[in-house]
Amino acid sequence: MPAKAIIISIGDEILYGQTLDTNSHWISGALDSLGIRVIKKVTIGDTRKEILHYLEQSEKLADMVIITGGLGPTNDDLTKPCLSEYFRTKLVRNQEVLKNIHSMFERAGWEISESNEKQADLPANCTPIVNTIGTAAGMWFDENDTVFVSMPGVPFEMRQMMSDTILPKLKKRFVSDSIYHRMIRTIGIGESKLAEIIADWENQLPDNIKLAYLPTMGSVKLRLTTEGDDETSKMLVQAQIDKVLPLIEKYVYGFDQEEIEDAIGRMLKNKGMTLSVAESCTGGFLSHKITSVPGSSAWFNGAFIPYSNQLKNEQLKVDNKIIQEHGAVSEPVVLALAKNVRDEFKSDIGISISGIAGPGGGTPDKPVGTVWIGYADANKTVARKFQFIRDREINIKYSAIAALNMIRINLDKE
Ligand code: AMP
Ligand code: MG
Repeated sequence: MPAKAIIISIGDEILYGQTLDTNSHWISGALDSLGIRVIKKVTIGDTRKEILHYLEQSEKLADMVIITGGLGPTNDDLTKPCLSEYFRTKLVRNQEVLKNIHSMFERAGWEISESNEKQADLPANCTPIVNTIGTAAGMWFDENDTVFVSMPGVPFEMRQMMSDTILPKLKKRFVSDSIYHRMIRTIGIGESKLAEIIADWENQLPDNIKLAYLPTMGSVKLRLTTEGDDETSKMLVQAQIDKVLPLIEKYVYGFDQEEIEDAIGRMLKNKGMTLSVAESCTGGFLSHKITSVPGSSAWFNGAFIPYSNQLKNEQLKVDNKIIQEHGAVSEPVVLALAKNVRDEFKSDIGISISGIAGPGGGTPDKPVGTVWIGYADANKTVARKFQFIRDREINIKYSAIAALNMIRINLDKE
């Protein structure tokens, strides 16, 4: 039986819709990868009664309770006094945490206040988890066979604390048989189609290897899990991967933690090729994804965002006649953009995007979500039309991913 976890997100701002609860999403994924089962997530306000109630409820149901939020220096943050009340103990000033807060303020050249120093007051029964990038310490409680972890709400502070300290501690405490995961990452195929193609392979999987389909935007990950991370387990999983790969090869872009933008970077680097971008409706999002990969200057020359027709014509030399005749969102326009950005920026590959992100601007011919993507290299210039949906944000994200996939498909053929 896997250990059970409940995640509690605390903060009035989450309930009011001012802050999106990204913490519990991230924590769920992190716990899942350890083989810990999240059975419930709760979001509550900074309210004493609610906090005490859900601490009690969660203790009954779960082996661990992971809490974020409510640790700020201001009076509206109540998590610490509530934990202290719940465990019938007192807040005690912790010298190690106090030292950390002092040195943070000194480094920043800020004057320290009493309320900042009060952040070193922690329930007497906790093991403090020093926050190296913020002033709110984390807390680890192990009471009545249940672990309670309390962390600050600031997402990057929470993530660092989880990765550096809490996940290793949880693993040691709750995960006896180590779990071994491998992930096959696919793109350009839906979950149900993928399931159809690999049905026979899935049916013959041995009982000790579990398969999960993890769909995310534009891509489906296949996760193979087995208990035990010894060499034999690893070899058994690898043998199954080797068996399934030939069936889905053209959709697989990478393994484990590699994102599509990482894979494109790896492919371009291996081939010693460079890339430039002309992106209209994505407004820089494709370039943002490409440059989020460390070392991308080795393969990314740069981008141009020709949002207006005038810039498409003046800067990237797309013939005005073509724009007038076919519209900015059209095959000939993205073909010209891809070819010209490749030439102008002296790159091996040019990629272009022009589409109708919405919510306005659609026509019967070209409804919202119509996106053309162009690709040019030394041997060919090609384009493909995509029909996404009515949501602007999703259309922008899908377009960038589709463009990255188009690079992958064409590079594979090189
Ligand atoms: P707190 O620890 O309550 O002082 O939270 C500090 C900041 O972290 C808040 O201002 C929120 O913007 C952010 N935050 C709190 N809870 C969450 C959450 N569950 N997901 C994402 N951000 C959060
Ligand atoms: Mg708060």
